[in-house]
Amino acid sequence: MSNGRPVRVGLLGCGNVGGALVELIEREADAVAERTGVRLEVTRALVRDLTKDRGGPAGRFTDKGEEVATAADVDVVVEVMGAVEPARTLILDALKAGKPVVTANKELIAAVGAELFEAASTAGVDLLFEAAVAGGIPLIRPLRESLAGERLIRVMGIVNGTTNYILTKMTEEGASYADALGEAQALGYAEPDPTADVEGFDAAAKAAIVASIAFGVRVAPTDVYREGISGVTAADIAFADQLGYAVKLLAVVEAVGPTDVAVRVHPAMVPKTHPLASVRESFNAVFIEGEAVGDLMLYGRGAGGMPTASALLGDLIDAAHNLRAGGMGRAPSLGTATISPIADLRSQYYVSIDVDDRPGVLSAVAGVFGEHGVSIRSMVQEGLEKEARLIFMTHTALERDMQATLEGLRALDAVDRIGSLLRVIGPE
Ligand code: NAP
Repeated sequence: MSNGRPVRVGLLGCGNVGGALVELIEREADAVAERTGVRLEVTRALVRDLTKDRGGPAGRFTDKGEEVATAADVDVVVEVMGAVEPARTLILDALKAGKPVVTANKELIAAVGAELFEAASTAGVDLLFEAAVAGGIPLIRPLRESLAGERLIRVMGIVNGTTNYILTKMTEEGASYADALGEAQALGYAEPDPTADVEGFDAAAKAAIVASIAFGVRVAPTDVYREGISGVTAADIAFADQLGYAVKLLAVVEAVGPTDVAVRVHPAMVPKTHPLASVRESFNAVFIEGEAVGDLMLYGRGAGGMPTASALLGDLIDAAHNLRAGGMGRAPSLGTATISPIADLRSQYYVSIDVDDRPGVLSAVAGVFGEHGVSIRSMVQEGLEKEARLIFMTHTALERDMQATLEGLRALDAVDRIGSLLRVIGPE
């Protein structure tokens, strides 16, 4: 049973996610009150355009942020407006006014999370952000609470639905990158300007948040090594497939020393036997490896109004409980980490190289690998018209040696083009 008066919710933003949250709260209000003892009621919502018809009482909507962030009839603030400003300022105002804040904004948490957590801690109220990473998939709470005592080895995820959709179309239908992107845009999975998704910026912001939570250290999006999928070709995917791998855009966060973490986003070859290889279309999944717990995988809808609203609702109920109890949950305490440079990565590699089809070229190419101490595991040669395409898989090597190899190959006359370099996941 719900005890006391309703917990009044103010929304900063009422678009795709905010609108879904209003619908969910209104639809589930009785059931949530019954199950959790918290009755939620949306009292205010900030929007830019007051003339849009959004349903709900007209008096709920305002275009002035302070009429939500510090309003007397708002107990908890939900930020779903996006971007850093004015969201940051409004959240700081709300926290100072003693209101817990729930947000879905990864860009904001990745960029200024440390400042906001400090403000929340000073005010003694919650700042919760489950919805900011992997939409509807519970990830932040499992990392912060269920796995609080776990020594985590690695967290590796498909955290961008747009790129996973594009790679799925390229894999299953042999589509080119351009055609698959066009289809994703037509379906509304990709933005008209897809840069944030396809070049890995969105995944890098999420990787920074996951690294901070999983390893308790401050990681900024600019600390994340980042490559997107725009250079991946249908031919790379077909070769990977023949070799028993799926190509996925992965966000990888791993402990590499007592205070060192490696954080990177790049396309990778994932063995088809690995659970992440079976994650198709716009689904997301996060694979967690811990010393005691072993392997875990969380899978689901990483975006979309309702899945994201589901994560916000869970946070809202938590914040409302803590508010009633007169306090806050455990805030993340973030230490300093050394970010391990990508040059120190040890991985197997896949690389495709187009060369002149004449005698001696193969041994010259192989020689460059040898010069830099990169050992070749397998090589496939395909005839093109006057050229040959050489596809190499290496044994585990240091990234800096692999990059030096590519540099050396570029200097060879017979090398016309170096295609994708893909890191290969898993043991040899
Ligand atoms: P959206 O549909 O564009 O909605 C944004 C809302 O905020 C709109 O109601 C807009 O008003 C309002 N708004 C934005 N800037 C404003 C300003 N300066 N002043 C007043 N109102 C402003 O965005 P969304 O897709 O719901 O995403 C919201 C947040 O959730 C973002 O941080 C996003 O990264 C995050 N998120 C989204 C998803 C998803 O699947 N969409 C998933 C996970 C996380 P108008 O309605 O008048 O334009």
